[in-house]
Amino acid sequence: MEWEEEALKALERVPEFVRNKAKEKIESLALEKGKSRVSIKEVEEAYALQLGEDDSKKIAVVRCDIISEVCPGTGCLTAYENRKELFRDYGSNTKIIGFFTCGGCPGRRVFRLVNTLKRYGIEAVHLSSCMLMEEPFTKCPNKEEIKKSIEKLGITVIDGTHHEVGQYAQGSRYHVGRKSKKV
Ligand code: SF4
Repeated sequence: MEWEEEALKALERVPEFVRNKAKEKIESLALEKGKSRVSIKEVEEAYALQLGEDDSKKIAVVRCDIISEVCPGTGCLTAYENRKELFRDYGSNTKIIGFFTCGGCPGRRVFRLVNTLKRYGIEAVHLSSCMLMEEPFTKCPNKEEIKKSIEKLGITVIDGTHHEVGQYAQGSRYHVGRKSKKV
């Protein structure tokens, strides 16, 4: 179905991992009304019906085991508490139900722990920013494998916690002040 630009922009307010679902619902509402094009009106009506606004998500954060030696996780947790950076789309009812390290290279415990969290209704897992930055620590060489192992469980993976996407390469906002050895 065709979408007007303003409607697409408004759709971006919906958290990424439920956006496709919300989009489908909005389109089916538009079809019910005999429309073949989605305008801002359809999106606003859907918002009024609280589509995509279920803010009681259950999420988890996976951190780098090596970097956890020098980082207590304050950046991740503060961003979550304040709903900033990669947590900005979550509502106040969203809960972190897991906050754990990968267990060391190559991320041996991630699959097992995320599998356990499925019992508690986990919906999305964030890879901590420390796994994605290139400075002052080396970017995780196992990131893609870790990501795939989580996705295999049917769980959405989100890159990052407290740094905006695009800032990873330079590590421009990283605040831990020393380099680790290469992993
Ligand atoms: S480099 Fe990657 S796999 Fe190794 S400890 Fe850090 S997050 Fe885990």
